[in-house]
Amino acid sequence: MERWETPSLEVSEPKHITDRLTSITSLSRDQRPDPTFTIAFDGSNQEVEARAGYPSVRVGYMQIAGVYVNIAQFLNANRSGLVNARELEKSQITQTVNSVLPGSNVHLKGLKGKETWRAELNRSFGESSITDFGSAFTLTDALMTIHGAPGNPAGQLVLSKCPNCGSAGTPQQIVTVTGGVCTEPLCSTTLYPTDILRTYEDFSEDGENIRPLNVAMNMAERLLLISYIDGFYRVQPQMLSQGLFITDGPLAVYGPSAPMKSRFLAYWNNLCIDLEAKGISVPLLVGIEKNGQFVDHANVIQEHIPDGHVMMLDTPYINTYIVNKEADHHYGKDEFYGRRFIYKTTTGEVLVLSVPRVPGGPPYEKPRPKANGEFFPLVSESFDSYPTLRATLEILDQLQTRLYPNAVIPVALAHSASSLPLGTGHSVLTLLAQRSLGMPENSISLSRFKPHNHGRRNSR
Ligand SMILES: [Zn+2]
Repeated sequence: MERWETPSLEVSEPKHITDRLTSITSLSRDQRPDPTFTIAFDGSNQEVEARAGYPSVRVGYMQIAGVYVNIAQFLNANRSGLVNARELEKSQITQTVNSVLPGSNVHLKGLKGKETWRAELNRSFGESSITDFGSAFTLTDALMTIHGAPGNPAGQLVLSKCPNCGSAGTPQQIVTVTGGVCTEPLCSTTLYPTDILRTYEDFSEDGENIRPLNVAMNMAERLLLISYIDGFYRVQPQMLSQGLFITDGPLAVYGPSAPMKSRFLAYWNNLCIDLEAKGISVPLLVGIEKNGQFVDHANVIQEHIPDGHVMMLDTPYINTYIVNKEADHHYGKDEFYGRRFIYKTTTGEVLVLSVPRVPGGPPYEKPRPKANGEFFPLVSESFDSYPTLRATLEILDQLQTRLYPNAVIPVALAHSASSLPLGTGHSVLTLLAQRSLGMPENSISLSRFKPHNHGRRNSR
């Protein structure tokens, strides 16, 4: 082991950090009204064993929430830095969406496990809706919208392959919002819009299904956010310029659904162009990470970052100091629709956040080395490509509270609104599954169940 090297955590010479810092007061600020509201999104999930042993019967629960906070009312409740709970309650509105999804050894009549998962995921997205902007707008509508344009959902999706036979089909597999059928003569499998998320690729007929459950939940969170942005766009687009939309985790999509990143990016680009033509500022959109590699790194280097400073994490830095890759590795190419920054708030808390480029464009480009070992400057690594950054950081500064270290209050509210019960509550979910499936209820033992909502954090 003495021969091996590990990424260094010790920061002895912090010039590589201090050179990348900028005071937020020196960032240019785009012309926009002050934010008047924020909507934060989060989700949680749990898989329970309705019958333990072999073959085990599992069921997954998922809950996502969006919490609207009126910023003026909130700041009133937070005047002393300690939150007045009653005022805070008055300033917020919560919307939750929840679903039950099949795990191992549960089937719809006539379908196999994986087919059951696909059918029920499609039903879940098709039935989960918000009505804040008039008629019901479902997560499937949001999925079609990111394949179309703001206010204009696509009429159909093209699947790269059939989930059953794998054929790309001639012509390609086409799915409308009501579904489709594989064109391969011997297959004829029913196809669903949610097949485009490819969650079924990780589905296990006999084991845990926390991975597909995590992907489904993350997509549901991001599509719920799109449902709100698109709702404002259709009904009152000028409101978008006063909104701050916060998603849990980075502005990225991982796993088999990663190709959806291109759709989020395209939707955002179209939104930027369209709002600019209407003379409306783009909304503030930010992803905030609570844990993971970048949060750990931020905590290690935070003593070198003065309050009110933001750090540009250029790709050679990320490769060298955070992810341990070659300096010119194209980090973030497949997953990201926003770029990460480390920010130390004016009160000394550290946030890892990502924001999209305006007016659009890839947030991570491949580093181009010069002959001398340095790198050519990239548009994606210029603060000028992120004109919403300053306004975003300023409002996040105001939304902090001494009650939660390194946290932003709307995020904490969304987290608690979306949380499924832990501990004894877990056995309630198990009991619910057993009753609904007509199974014996005598096998409840807390020691047998592992709470899974921690697993999803690791998966990021
Ligand atoms: Zn097929």
